[in-house]
Amino acid sequence: MTQSTLMDLIIARRDDLIALTQDLIRIPTLNPPGRNYREVCDYLAARLAASGFTVELIRAQGALADSDRYPRWNLLARHTGARAGDCVHFNSHHDVVEVGHGWTVDPFGGELRDGRIYGRGACDMKGGLATSIIAAEAFIAAHPDYAGAIEISATADEESGGYGGVAYLAERGYFSPDRVQHVIIPEPLNKDRICLGHRGVWWAEIETHGRIAHGSMPFLGDSAIRHMGAVLEEMERYLYPLLATKHTTMPVVPEGARQSTLNINSIHGGEAEQETGYTGLPAPCVADRCRIILDRRFLIEEDIAEVKSEVTTMLERIRAERPNFTYEIKDLFEVQPTMTDRDAPVVKTVQAAIEKVLSTQAQFVVSPGTYDQKHIDRIGKLHNCIAYGPGILELAHQPDEWIGVDDMIDSAKVMALTLQELLA
Ligand SMILES: [Zn+2]
Repeated sequence: MTQSTLMDLIIARRDDLIALTQDLIRIPTLNPPGRNYREVCDYLAARLAASGFTVELIRAQGALADSDRYPRWNLLARHTGARAGDCVHFNSHHDVVEVGHGWTVDPFGGELRDGRIYGRGACDMKGGLATSIIAAEAFIAAHPDYAGAIEISATADEESGGYGGVAYLAERGYFSPDRVQHVIIPEPLNKDRICLGHRGVWWAEIETHGRIAHGSMPFLGDSAIRHMGAVLEEMERYLYPLLATKHTTMPVVPEGARQSTLNINSIHGGEAEQETGYTGLPAPCVADRCRIILDRRFLIEEDIAEVKSEVTTMLERIRAERPNFTYEIKDLFEVQPTMTDRDAPVVKTVQAAIEKVLSTQAQFVVSPGTYDQKHIDRIGKLHNCIAYGPGILELAHQPDEWIGVDDMIDSAKVMALTLQELLA
């Protein structure tokens, strides 16, 4: 089997690739709350069973957000070759984020116009999922006697942490290195880039305390908002400049994320936000509580204990200097950074395939935010894992999201060539 025959088999599947992507977009798998997960898994199960895969539908029973109303369904399909060999696994999430405003096309219409398919999830990441299916089917047609196995999974809840998806499967051994040897996650990273991993995350809530009193006599109370103001001031004066000095050798894109970053997700103090429909004035009170949520992204060079202690040290310093300052800090969520070695087999194989198909050098990148690689790495203990897929990263989660058909074809060629290299 020559390379050009395999490539021809991909090109011949162009209409199939378009129709498959459109069908997937037309099943609105919105998360939250987690709609139509079973429908999308049933659709894929029928498709892949017809292509000779053994399919398994797995509900993440009892996982975060799983309920009878919104069950967290996952699909795992496995195709076994003629001889023993490695298993290459393509993992895509099937959930999509909310639609939001600003669309000029039907977000669940899957409209094809000028070589682009439009819709929520087109690039993130139903286009990537469809691409991996076409690549696998073309490869199997070209090499019916291949060695090893190919797996395709479509998993739930990546957009909300992946606990009802990849984490659940990893905990049950589906990503253990004796079962799976190479993992490719077709997230939209651009067709010539290999994403090696992601930065770490720490989310925390800080609450400052005060004492409620009448707003006309604030001196009788103690404002938790003013105390939080002192925290924010100290962040500007000390913490943000400190983070700006911390740079990484990770090739994070965009470049602004090649340092430690901190976002304050939300702030709230005093009387609760008014419910919709109420048009009156608020009551005058001194705020007795104020809360912020921190979203700290950290680097492979940083230790999470040090990341946390930067904040607690700062808070302790304020407490030592500021009368009546008390606070609480609560951990909400954390993920360790991860980065696959550039010499890992899946990295080198995809790199060579990109260079053959696109006649350009593959670029190595790291994602500023996390994705399901974290669970494969940490729970599955499988480190030979990358994200590689078609689609422009910046279009993800945007109105009028689209994916280019030519880009999908190119990526399908890269994936099929990767399979040929690893399994044929
Ligand atoms: Zn995604």
